[in-house]
Amino acid sequence: MKKIIVFTGAGISAESGIKTFRDNDGLWENYNIEEVATPEAWIKNPKLVLKFYNERRKQVLKAKPNKAHLDLVKLENKYDTYIITQNIDDLHERAGSSKILHLHGEILKSRSTFNNSTYNIEGTKLNFGDLCENKSQLRPDIVWFGEAVPNMIKAEELCNDADILIIIGTSLSVYPAANILDYVPANCEKYIVDPNKTESLSDKNITLIQKKASTGIPILAKILSQKDSISQ
Ligand code: NAD
Repeated sequence: MKKIIVFTGAGISAESGIKTFRDNDGLWENYNIEEVATPEAWIKNPKLVLKFYNERRKQVLKAKPNKAHLDLVKLENKYDTYIITQNIDDLHERAGSSKILHLHGEILKSRSTFNNSTYNIEGTKLNFGDLCENKSQLRPDIVWFGEAVPNMIKAEELCNDADILIIIGTSLSVYPAANILDYVPANCEKYIVDPNKTESLSDKNITLIQKKASTGIPILAKILSQKDSISQ
């Protein structure tokens, strides 16, 4: 069975009604990211940070997986499929994908500021004053801009022997996540599904499908099955 890594970003959830990040001139849902998504913001104004992520959580819980999330699940019938996502929503999980690695954390979880233990958030709100078992403030389980990305090591290991890399809905501008392209073997087939990417990708071995995720993934699935039938 060939191994597929699907690397997703905010664009795959756009058709579920969750705005991407770069849609808004560097603002995230009208917030300046420095004020809500950095360790400095947490020190300066934790209540604002909590408010921002409470709003995001509410929005995610209202959203539903779209056709793109659902079509990725079908890949599991033919390929050893792993999703590596930069998204903090749970739409891949709700669609039914079975192997998912979150690089930037999960909006439905909180994390202890004492020892990094994580907890499921009951309901939509995490409040100032909500404490972990060790009586320390809980923060959203999100990897903020400027923080290390612990799951990058696992991502690199998963990519090392990939046969196919599919990149969907990411500007590839957030590092180290965007390094994923360097982790796959040289002979790995690479595809990008994104309506706004141009052909001026530096790596000529990448096939660009310039479509929204919901229309691009079926096109890609067809290309993959044609290649499979030729190689059989
Ligand atoms: P980004 O906003 O930087 O880039 C989004 C990409 O998606 C763009 O290249 C855009 O052309 C493309 N796109 C837009 N609509 C699309 C569609 N229908 N189908 C396919 N592609 C589409 O997003 P990023 O690269 O993921 O980086 C943003 C950071 O912000 C991430 O770290 C992420 O954690 C966070 N974020 C997460 C969510 C979420 O969890 N849903 C939403 C916004 C931001």
